[in-house]
Amino acid sequence: MAGQTRYVIIGASAAGMAAAEAIRAIDKSGPVTVYSDESDPPYFRPLIPFLISGKKSAADMAMVGHGPYRGTGIDVRLKSKVAGIDARMRTVSLKSGEEVAFDRLLLATGSSPYVPPEIDGTGQEGVFTLRTLSDARSAAGRAEKSRRAIMLGGGILNLKASFALLERGLKVTLIVQSPQVLSQLMEPDDASLIRDALNKAGLEIETGVSARRILSGSNGVNGVLLDDGREIACEMVCIGKGVRPNAAFVDSENIRVDRGIVVDQFTASGAESIYAAGDVAVTVDPVTGGRIVTALWTNAVEMGRCAGFNMAGKPTAYGGTFGILNATQVAGVSFVSMGIVHTSGLDYETHVHESRGAYRKLVFSPDGERLLGVLLLGDISRAGLYRFVIREKMPVAKIKSQIINHALHYGHFIRT
Ligand SMILES: Cc1cc2nc3c(=O)[nH]c(=O)nc-3n(C[C@H](O)[C@H](O)[C@H](O)COP(=O)(O)OP(=O)(O)OC[C@H]3O[C@@H](n4cnc5c(N)ncnc54)[C@H](O)[C@@H]3O)c2cc1C
Repeated sequence: MAGQTRYVIIGASAAGMAAAEAIRAIDKSGPVTVYSDESDPPYFRPLIPFLISGKKSAADMAMVGHGPYRGTGIDVRLKSKVAGIDARMRTVSLKSGEEVAFDRLLLATGSSPYVPPEIDGTGQEGVFTLRTLSDARSAAGRAEKSRRAIMLGGGILNLKASFALLERGLKVTLIVQSPQVLSQLMEPDDASLIRDALNKAGLEIETGVSARRILSGSNGVNGVLLDDGREIACEMVCIGKGVRPNAAFVDSENIRVDRGIVVDQFTASGAESIYAAGDVAVTVDPVTGGRIVTALWTNAVEMGRCAGFNMAGKPTAYGGTFGILNATQVAGVSFVSMGIVHTSGLDYETHVHESRGAYRKLVFSPDGERLLGVLLLGDISRAGLYRFVIREKMPVAKIKSQIINHALHYGHFIRT
């Protein structure tokens, strides 16, 4: 052990496990210990709705042994919540009372569902948020005894959960405060493909209303009172109102917390030898230059890998984050939304192409010289190429017609 670097990672998910593997790729012997407050071994979190639909088991979602996750020489400690860190003494304290020393520390604690305090009754039996495998098991158990579910929030997680419940045969009603579903990822005119698919799948959608109170009886939830005065009966409620970074346990004058943990381009927090990655980290949006917290698996993996390399002594800059949803499907419609896609009333150069089963929106800067955002529905081919053009801030003059005609390929990059 003498002379070896001790690596400690808090959080055994996308960012934490990618970092652990990256460290191991460089440092073959320094002990890598990953603490998780969950009781399940690391798993692919985006798959948990399939546990509700019954399409996958927990074992099907395991990370270790799949893709790049070998787990060799990585010590994952489950049911081990970290209660605090001492940046000066370089120790973390576990809830159990144990103190652990580190030479390099990664904060990869992710995010937690936001439960709006203005909705009464969210603590009732039968009310769920969907974040962990354990949440999915509880929701699946309740679904067995339920005929109708009400979903509060029209974001991607609730849509995935809605479909899982529809597939189990429940009647499902989505309550959305904004005028459409997925409002953070697309504008109303862009959403018709998704809207049609949702309707066809039998999902009931109520827009422009919100829940005031969750009603309950002796068996837990039995309905929801809306702010327009209507009551809808149901046996279970899922709240999908976004997430917040798990940064509250960080109490150090050298670590800047502003929503999440603010890091530099090398994923370093202000405190020496302490890094952050994934949903908990605040990074830079390469399109706007502003600070951003994204809640996406692919970004967490990429950032975690950079953090791991940096921790093991190989300086690796992280290119920044903008919202990209990789190959996500809603009601059988694949879509990708990245960069700036909300353009109504703004001065961007926008190109929309609609065909049977596919929709494409390309957003260029007002002078037309840069690609700033892309929305692809139905046909998500070339998403990676668009991502590259946006992220590298490439001048597009020589490839613009190929972008507009969806004919871009790798050869164009070699030529330009
Ligand atoms: C249902 C669902 C579907 C999703 N679908 C998609 C999708 O299609 N595409 C996509 O890109 N993203 C999707 N996401 C988002 C994606 O899962 C997250 O962005 C990703 O998991 C973030 O990874 P992370 O490692 O930063 O944090 P997390 O995955 O949140 O993991 C953090 C871990 O740290 C643990 N932890 C927190 N605090 C402590 C502590 N003090 N001590 C010990 N352990 C702690 C947490 O319990 C958790 O296990 C989905 C998420 C959900 C819930």
